[in-house]
Amino acid sequence: MIISVIGAGPVGCYAAYLLAKAGHSVTVFEEHPKIGKPVQCTGIVTRDLLDLVKPSKGIIQNQISEAVIHGEKTSIGLRITEPNLVLDRERFDRYISGLALRAGAKIRLRTRVERIVQEGPTYILYTKHIGKFKADCIIGADGPLSVTAKALGLYRNKKMLNARQALIYSRNNNRVEFYLGNGFGWVVPESRNIVRAGVATMGDPFGPFNSLLRRSKLVGKKQLELTGGLIPLFNPIGLRSGGKAYLIGDAGGFVKATTGGGIVPGLKSAQICADSIITGKNYDVLWWLKLAPELTAHRAIFRMMNKMPPDEIDKLLSTLKSGAARDMLQSHSRDRLTTWGFGLAIKQPKLLLFLRYLV
Ligand SMILES: Cc1cc2nc3c(=O)[nH]c(=O)nc-3n(C[C@H](O)[C@H](O)[C@H](O)COP(=O)(O)OP(=O)(O)OC[C@H]3O[C@@H](n4cnc5c(N)ncnc54)[C@H](O)[C@@H]3O)c2cc1C
Repeated sequence: MIISVIGAGPVGCYAAYLLAKAGHSVTVFEEHPKIGKPVQCTGIVTRDLLDLVKPSKGIIQNQISEAVIHGEKTSIGLRITEPNLVLDRERFDRYISGLALRAGAKIRLRTRVERIVQEGPTYILYTKHIGKFKADCIIGADGPLSVTAKALGLYRNKKMLNARQALIYSRNNNRVEFYLGNGFGWVVPESRNIVRAGVATMGDPFGPFNSLLRRSKLVGKKQLELTGGLIPLFNPIGLRSGGKAYLIGDAGGFVKATTGGGIVPGLKSAQICADSIITGKNYDVLWWLKLAPELTAHRAIFRMMNKMPPDEIDKLLSTLKSGAARDMLQSHSRDRLTTWGFGLAIKQPKLLLFLRYLV
């Protein structure tokens, strides 16, 4: 089968790798001249990543086992049993594209897909500079504003967080700081001298970004790079496939709403998509069973947190400070929330009181 993947981010390249390895003829179209650039990501992931791919030590820039979650007045410190990984996103993207190339996929850089038209069983891709291409199967891995989704009438990301992030020169003690309220903010050390500090909010990120800098004592420190970007909020309703067209990664909204983490769920969506193409199983059924429960739980928590006034967020953090709850937060992956979240509520029933913010 001739398969076209639109977007050579990590998710598109991972799908290309899996499908080329299975013997399909795969071409990836990427609008930028270079894989991995520009970087619009903090690159922090749980070790669940290693169940999917095995990036080398150089790509994993840092490992972090301490985190502090801040409300307005209350903070909770965590010692994470399985350290989080901080990726060099540019090198990570190049590593995944290398897997795809070695498996036999082709990558066409500087090739933006402008339009896709379906003629019977064939998809025709119109590109800006080098004409049109035909494919039997289309995979949209083209980010939050997916052209594929629009052209083929599939699921569209409606709600998105606006993110703003800076790379800042700052001596640090290798601890993640995570700030709750009005979306969320983070300070993630890439090394002992440099942090990635950012916010993601429903509105304009400029004000929240400046207050993050103040709160985390980063005002006036040298900013090496400033980036932004959109983070789609997952919605379980909506078809991510139709005919032989599929949406994966950010294009399908596969992101954890609590943290904006899209690398692990995105790669999982690529794996599920490749599996459904190879075996003929229904992609929408598969992602619904394997990804929707987890991502819906993250979405529910995000919505709850955004309805809670600051003093209630402080109360929630105080409740989570109790031994049993803190132990669970420290020892369980946020990529497997549904496997332990209910246990947390049973061990600390006071948490159930906060469910009123769900409605
Ligand atoms: C500020 C910020 C911080 C983040 N931090 C983290 C984090 O710490 N951890 C984490 O897990 N996630 C994080 N994320 C989310 C993460 O970056 C995304 O979930 C991830 O990049 C999704 O990968 P993807 O391959 O689906 O899409 P992308 O990485 O967006 O790749 C899509 C590619 O498609 C290309 N493209 C788009 N349209 C076309 C077209 N028409 N034709 C050709 N090419 C096209 C784009 O140029 C792009 O290269 C962050 C996001 C932001 C904005």
